[in-house]
Amino acid sequence: MKKIVIFTGAGISAESGLKTFRASDGLWEEHRIEDVATPEAWRRDPHLVLEFYNQRRRGVVAAQPNAAHRALAELQTAANVHVITQNIDDLHERAGSQQVLHLHGEIMQARSSANEALLYDTRGNDIRWGDVCELGSQLRPHVVWFGEAVPMFDKALALTAEADIFLVVGTSLAVYPAASLLQFVKPDAQKYIVTLDLTEPPRDDFVWLKEKATVGVPRLVEQWLAV
Ligand code: NAD
Repeated sequence: MKKIVIFTGAGISAESGLKTFRASDGLWEEHRIEDVATPEAWRRDPHLVLEFYNQRRRGVVAAQPNAAHRALAELQTAANVHVITQNIDDLHERAGSQQVLHLHGEIMQARSSANEALLYDTRGNDIRWGDVCELGSQLRPHVVWFGEAVPMFDKALALTAEADIFLVVGTSLAVYPAASLLQFVKPDAQKYIVTLDLTEPPRDDFVWLKEKATVGVPRLVEQWLAV
């Protein structure tokens, strides 16, 4: 069975109503990274950080998977599919994808600020100041902030290196080390990118489909299911 690895970013969830980071109406237009998504921000103003991610979580709870998420789940009937996502939303899982690795954490989970192994299901609820883990430490969102290590990176790298087909969807490839995964794809793997814009032009060995995720992804999946 072929191994297909899909590497996704905020663009795959844009048509579900979740804002990307870098679009002109994106999240960073309204919030500075340094104010809400760094360990320093958490130390300086945890209330603002909690509220920023509480808003993100409410948005995710209200959103539904779109045709791109659903097509990737359908692909599992014919191939060994692994999704590596930079997204903190749970739309891949809600569409039915079973092997999903979150590089940058999961907004639906809360984490102890004293021990990163202690995770708690928020069930979609806000994390409030004063909500504590079993050790008595404040809960924070289970997301990887800028400047923090990416603990799942090695696992993602191993999956990437084994892919027969590697498909990138909805990412500007601007965030590292995530974007460096592309360097580890086998030379003879089939390689595609479905995304509207890129920070730099894609490598020559990637086919760039410059279209919306809900258009390009179902079409590719249909082709793969037909062979
Ligand atoms: P990004 O905002 O840097 O780039 C988004 C990319 O998606 C751009 O290339 C854009 O052209 C493309 N795009 C926008 N709408 C699209 C559509 N309908 N179809 C196809 N492509 C579309 O996002 P990124 O590269 O994922 O980068 C950074 C960080 O953003 C990640 O660390 C991630 O954790 C975080 N993020 C996650 C979510 C989420 O969980 N849904 C939302 C916003 C940001």
